[in-house]
Amino acid sequence: MKITGLELFHISIPFAEPYHLSKVYGTRYDAESVILKVHTDQGIVGLGEADPLNPFTEDTCASVIVVTRDMIAPHIIDQDPSDLAGLEYMLDQAVNGNLVARSAVNMALFDIVGKANDIPAHLMLGGRYHDKLPIFRGIGSGSPEEDIVAIERELARGNKCIMIKMGSLPVSDEIKRMIAVKKKYGDRVPFVVDANQGWTVFEALAFVDGIRDYRPDLIEQPIYHKDIEGLKRIKERSPCPLSADESMQNLHDAATLIQEKAVDVFSLKVSKNGGLAKTKKIADVAETFGIKCLMNSMFEFGISQAASLQVGCTLTNLLDFGHAYGSVTRMSDDITDFDQNISPGFVTVPSGPGLGINLKEDKLKKYTKEYLKIGEPAE
Ligand SMILES: [Mg+2]
Repeated sequence: MKITGLELFHISIPFAEPYHLSKVYGTRYDAESVILKVHTDQGIVGLGEADPLNPFTEDTCASVIVVTRDMIAPHIIDQDPSDLAGLEYMLDQAVNGNLVARSAVNMALFDIVGKANDIPAHLMLGGRYHDKLPIFRGIGSGSPEEDIVAIERELARGNKCIMIKMGSLPVSDEIKRMIAVKKKYGDRVPFVVDANQGWTVFEALAFVDGIRDYRPDLIEQPIYHKDIEGLKRIKERSPCPLSADESMQNLHDAATLIQEKAVDVFSLKVSKNGGLAKTKKIADVAETFGIKCLMNSMFEFGISQAASLQVGCTLTNLLDFGHAYGSVTRMSDDITDFDQNISPGFVTVPSGPGLGINLKEDKLKKYTKEYLKIGEPAE
């Protein structure tokens, strides 16, 4: 089997409702991704998805398209997609960084090989450990009253764990928000606080001091991603575990965070971490050092979510309270049928070949605002 060509589709789909994040990312109205089709001479088409969000990731949709065209496609066209490890290693040598573009290609290769051998991608990653995983839902930044309304809505949908976005209001207000939800829900509902780099170290320390008797189950990425010393100071003083998201992009980040004992949890995203193979590797290293993993997501559509689930279901060191497999339900629409795996509070691992999802061509066409063909993809 040989790769004959690639197609790239830059899509934009509005959120079902605006999403208020930390002051670093502001309020988001649309999700933008690059959908990738990798074509082969046997008619098998692999699906990939790149979900850049600069300044979270270094990539943008435009850079994903250029890097895929100029840096990746020349190395994989005419190659055998079954050579998963060889192609991955070769691209590691040929491309510096650009993990979001790399993730889409890695997803597509796993999809092709799975389809060619009629096996799900998780069988290529050691096999399934979880049949289904609990879902957490994120709620945006709001007042304590708005938080309760949003949490009640998610609990009514069957979700059992809530991620609260912080990092945009004065930290004294964020402490009030945390105390308000803990007073109402106690330990009945697990809470993850994600400040998305929105705090200084001083503000984060003020937060962990202020919520000492009302602690969440996890605090994610309170400060700037490169401030490892700051993370260590916060972890030492925090009454609950600390997670790295923006700070945890590649295997070398994992090594640094482990060596420095900077966090307790890695927030993993196949779309951020460079694909299924690299994410699995990071999770395995984490397990060796007693680090738990949270399967998280960027603003993802069904291809990235399916790829993430194929990895997540193989891991034995996941947190047990919830993972970010509800991304497509935050959107007004999707270009795949991934939502059929979602039931109230849970996502079920699909058993179909490859990534286990199907593309909706009409939806892809509807939401594409830029298209690029590379090589000779079959029409
Ligand atoms: Mg996060």
